[in-house]
Amino acid sequence: MYVDFHTHTLASDGQLTPTELIKKAKQLGFSFIAKTDHDNVNLMSEFLAAGKKFGVNTITGMEISSRYQGKSLHIVALGIDYKNKKINDYAQKCIAARKVRGLKMAAKLARAGWQLKKSELDRVLLARPHVALAVINHPQNKKRLLQEFGAIPDFSTFIRKYLAKDCSCYVPKKYYIKPLPAIRMIHASGGLAIIAHPLCQTKEFRYSRPHLLKIIKNLPFDGLEVYNNGNAPLDTLYLRNLAIKHRLLISAGSDYHGYDKIYPLGPRYRGRRVKASACQKLLAKLQLI
Ligand SMILES: [Zn+2]
Ligand SMILES: [Zn+2]
Repeated sequence: MYVDFHTHTLASDGQLTPTELIKKAKQLGFSFIAKTDHDNVNLMSEFLAAGKKFGVNTITGMEISSRYQGKSLHIVALGIDYKNKKINDYAQKCIAARKVRGLKMAAKLARAGWQLKKSELDRVLLARPHVALAVINHPQNKKRLLQEFGAIPDFSTFIRKYLAKDCSCYVPKKYYIKPLPAIRMIHASGGLAIIAHPLCQTKEFRYSRPHLLKIIKNLPFDGLEVYNNGNAPLDTLYLRNLAIKHRLLISAGSDYHGYDKIYPLGPRYRGRRVKASACQKLLAKLQLI
């Protein structure tokens, strides 16, 4: 009955394995789930197999980090052929770039006197949360963490102090794909390109409405993530009208990372989970209904 076209698993910075994600989706009454890990398609075959096993319709996907006119622009690809060569070449490049960047941040933290737990850094896909956890989970840092944070911080608190833009151990991301080649790559692999969290309010994404309009007018996107948990109901209405006006498919994604208490699975609108009926055209285009 419910849908979520934007989720993350252990293949990027999510908390759950694809199988755990599918089990949760089944328990909660979801009928369609897309796995859209950051810039890679790792663990996709596990995701698809789990969907079959537990009776949840699965959609292959990936969330691509691009930049457009000085702002981050995340693109959710849906229904891609995850074995496509271009997709895999792109993913390999990103994984390698993340590793270099993650290790540079870890080296900066070490120079600032923190101990680092090696097993957290020794991952195929190294993202900022893992670098933060390498500090948080090292027992020798406990005293200093308590002094600086008043309690053992979660990784996002630690990132905000040390690893966010303009912080002392931050290393800027060097490799970004531009949105147009990203959209072309998605189309070439049989997928749809959706603008992710269009009204996200964090610093790197905060676009004005005219900026969003420019994105829509200048780039061949297929859809817009109209239903997203960050939106107030009026924002959702604005996005829905925008999608209708510009003939974009209406998508719904919670950007689930496994943190059920703060950001549960399934986008909501006026307190209720979004149902498949809100995204009929998207599902039809994905040939799922
Ligand atoms: Zn995103
Ligand atoms: Zn996301």
